[in-house]
Amino acid sequence: MNDCIFCKIIAGTIPSISVYEDDDIKVFLDISQTTPGHTLLIPKKHITNIFEYDESLAQKVLTKIPMIARAIKKSNPKISGLNIVNNNGAIAYQSVFHSHFHFIPRFAATDSFAMTFKDNSGEYSSAKLQEIANLIHKNMED
Ligand code: 5GP
Ligand code: ZN
Repeated sequence: MNDCIFCKIIAGTIPSISVYEDDDIKVFLDISQTTPGHTLLIPKKHITNIFEYDESLAQKVLTKIPMIARAIKKSNPKISGLNIVNNNGAIAYQSVFHSHFHFIPRFAATDSFAMTFKDNSGEYSSAKLQEIANLIHKNMED
């Protein structure tokens, strides 16, 4: 795609620090280095976000996640955890609209990455939870 920064990185017209690539994916360091070793995995095919993966592309791209995660972990003995983050849509903090997965090595509770899950469980009856689950299930593809 012409105007996509990650397509330009794949084409080599914008430089990047590459970690790995094959026919289907490119793995490179995120310019922000939120924590040291912050890495991005992208499909070479331009798709906007998770909603556009078919099963074949998902198989080619997503099955590489554990291999990349293990390599990052082994690259630095100070890494004690790893957040894998995939933002889909501007409301979900996506700023580059070529699908990507962040690998964010974690060193300490006080390092530069944080994520908050608010606990709203008190506001949900089991009937309401079941209704939500049923709606999701009903919309699953075969
Ligand atoms: P998002 O906010 O869409 O989930 O993440 C986009 C990520 O792309 C950001 O973490 C940002 O630092 C990274 N990024 C944006 N432009 C470039 C670039 O030109 N090179 C590299 N290596 N990373 C980039
Ligand atoms: Zn692209």
